Amino acid sequence: MNNHAAHAQAAHSPAALTAALPSYLDPQHLGPWGIYLQQVDRVTPYLGTLARWVDTLKRPKRTLIVDVPIHLDDGTVAHFEGYRVQHNTSRGPGKGGVRFHQNVTLSEVMALSAWMSIKNAAVNVPYGGAKGGIRVDPRQLSMGELERMTRRYTSEIGLIIGPSKDIPAPDVNTNEQIMAWMMDTYSMNEGATATGVVTGKPIDLGGSLGRREATGRGVFTVGVQAAQRIGMDVSQARVAVQGFGNVGGIAGKLFAQAGARVVAVQDHGGTVCREAGLDVPTLLAHVAQHGTVAGFAGAEVLDDDAFWSVPCDILIPAALEQQITEHNAHRIQARLVIEGANGPTTPQADDILNDRGILVVPDVIANAGGVTVSYFEWVQDFSSFFWSEDEINARLVRIMQEAFAAVCQVADDHRVSLRTATFIVACKRILHARDLRGLYP
Ligand code: NAD
Repeated sequence: MNNHAAHAQAAHSPAALTAALPSYLDPQHLGPWGIYLQQVDRVTPYLGTLARWVDTLKRPKRTLIVDVPIHLDDGTVAHFEGYRVQHNTSRGPGKGGVRFHQNVTLSEVMALSAWMSIKNAAVNVPYGGAKGGIRVDPRQLSMGELERMTRRYTSEIGLIIGPSKDIPAPDVNTNEQIMAWMMDTYSMNEGATATGVVTGKPIDLGGSLGRREATGRGVFTVGVQAAQRIGMDVSQARVAVQGFGNVGGIAGKLFAQAGARVVAVQDHGGTVCREAGLDVPTLLAHVAQHGTVAGFAGAEVLDDDAFWSVPCDILIPAALEQQITEHNAHRIQARLVIEGANGPTTPQADDILNDRGILVVPDVIANAGGVTVSYFEWVQDFSSFFWSEDEINARLVRIMQEAFAAVCQVADDHRVSLRTATFIVACKRILHARDLRGLYP
């Protein structure tokens, strides 16, 4: 074989075609995407014959990077980088939030989109996984600038989103108003009002009752079940919460209503604590007024790092990724960690918590309540028939309880962590769909 022929043959072998991974697909690069890849590797031995499809999970189906130029109020032009990643659509359209944050990267959005695939499969809603974001600190923008940026971003990703293609929703620093602008922009471009293009909308625009509280309610629902699993009485428990926004604030409120004492809360502005329990409704009102827990009169101030060693029974990380690391995991006092945030625990920290006998309820099941009610919202929009809040909450609780029970069963059968068990359940569902559909063309 001459050199040219040898080269041609090598270049066409599957190994040669896939060998040169771009750096963001490199499993050694432990950003959020690298962490996700490790999680998939961990469950591959449990996938049986479906393991032959596992590479499907290791690369996003579609990745879009967009330039988002806007006029600032002073007349100058600013450019922001935006993303929309559709990780997998084997089980249905893409689904996942949009994040506005100064640290958003492609690796992060890819990982968050993949975790959406896992989450949607874990609770068995008929969606694939997607996620979007813009690298921006939205607190630096005026309302007008925020609206122009949201609309331009929506128009740019309008190529790949749609009610039956990919349905965005709120995430960190995005809310009902942002969803309303996204829905309007998409509808203007389409020439028809398309309420089902986003979820987490205002009620008056086809939003669902119960959506705002859904993620926190789901965290609480699986948290109570997880507590039962280790014989913990929630009404006697001390709870520490990191992140007191949509997820952490509602979860904290529901735990307090169940009799638990919320003894420490941390957000981007600082950390407050009170051994006898913080007055959660008053703290929520303080956050609504000041944007942070810092300065709350009914509490002591705690050093941010000391938050991780606060005596408590339940810890709820509900802020950002990679907060529980090998540097603080050995100091955590809780017996139960419920991941409200996406990806808050690094794999090293996960192992430390496991070795210490601390039960971790992983993000991909713990915070799935939001997407579950997003699914209800999307169904209601399609049928233009809206359900009562009691109906929504009852259906949410039933889906979360059933999904959590199924995950616990797999964890017991294989003697694995709840994270690995959730990945086993979800990966099998996704890859079974891939297997049934086969490869196009
Ligand atoms: P949010 O913007 O409402 O609240 C975020 C909270 O995190 C705020 O209290 C903020 O002060 C705090 N925070 C930010 N940076 C911090 C830092 N460095 N240290 C401590 N606290 C910090 O966002 P959210 O919707 O509550 O989302 C929180 C997490 O939950 C994210 O990981 C998000 O992806 C995940 N999540 C949200 C939903 C949802 O429906 N909103 C659903 C599933 C998962």
